[in-house]
Amino acid sequence: MDIKTPLIWKNWTFIKWDDTQDHHLSHTLHYWSWVFEWIRFYNTTKWPKIFKLEAHIDRLFYSASVFQMDTEFSKEEIMQACIQTVAKSWETEWYIRPIIYYGTGKMWLNPTGAKVETVISVWKFGKYLGDKAIDVKIAKTRRVDPRTTDMNAKICGNYSNSILVSLEIKKDGFDEWLLLDTNDFIAEWPGENIFFIQGNSVYTPELWTILPGITRATIIDLFQDKLDIKVIERKISPEELWNFNEAFFVWTAAEVTPIASITNEWWTKFIYNSGNASSTSKKISDFYHNIVTWDDENYINHLS
Ligand code: PMP
Repeated sequence: MDIKTPLIWKNWTFIKWDDTQDHHLSHTLHYWSWVFEWIRFYNTTKWPKIFKLEAHIDRLFYSASVFQMDTEFSKEEIMQACIQTVAKSWETEWYIRPIIYYGTGKMWLNPTGAKVETVISVWKFGKYLGDKAIDVKIAKTRRVDPRTTDMNAKICGNYSNSILVSLEIKKDGFDEWLLLDTNDFIAEWPGENIFFIQGNSVYTPELWTILPGITRATIIDLFQDKLDIKVIERKISPEELWNFNEAFFVWTAAEVTPIASITNEWWTKFIYNSGNASSTSKKISDFYHNIVTWDDENYINHLS
């Protein structure tokens, strides 16, 4: 067991790890009909601070609406439930995982009529990938085509190719994969958004096949507010990787992860100086870390 959870919140009741019960004939187990969020909370002077809780719960409810889930709770109630679950945990820098899923009551593909269940757990999970600059390989597997599903939702089916890609990566000796979209443009990592820097210009793939990350939006705001740089959102082709001098991934769990190299299928390597102390990536990474661990009201929209 690599995680240890304190109490789990399910439909207003707290249950212990050993007392959880979910039926083998839950709709979600058979058809992946669940939606989820990753939220991080930090230990600050106003302990504990849940970063962008409202934005995450908005996205959770959007994802649930895509699956036409009739949740019996309001957004405010789910935010309160997250806060209560955090309060019952015994650590102060963990992750919160709310999920909403179709339970028992229906076994056809169309889940209408199955019970909608809401569960919130918290667990310890260190900063993903740490602080070192990572080596990345462009995967042959493509990011899911937005004409086949809703890419703005965190619905589980969107992640089956992410799982396949993640199973492969360590065999090749790289730290992470980078996925192209079905039109051969750069998309994202299976679970993170990506940024590139060329001189004073900053680029990130436009919204199409990528998840509109909450960290991505925060980083775009930080570039504008702190460095007076407007981030350009557009299609980026792999050939352009030659032009960039820095690159980094962003995600709630990882914050900002500098990229050292990207290798394509012909084994050509691109070296970036993203990890250097004087790099723009390092500056933006520090700004981000400061706003998640300090109380900057411009960025924090929920304090518990
Ligand atoms: N892209 C994908 C596919 C993701 O699953 C995630 C979250 N794990 C992200 C980007 C980053 O999203 P956020 O910044 O909201 O955590």
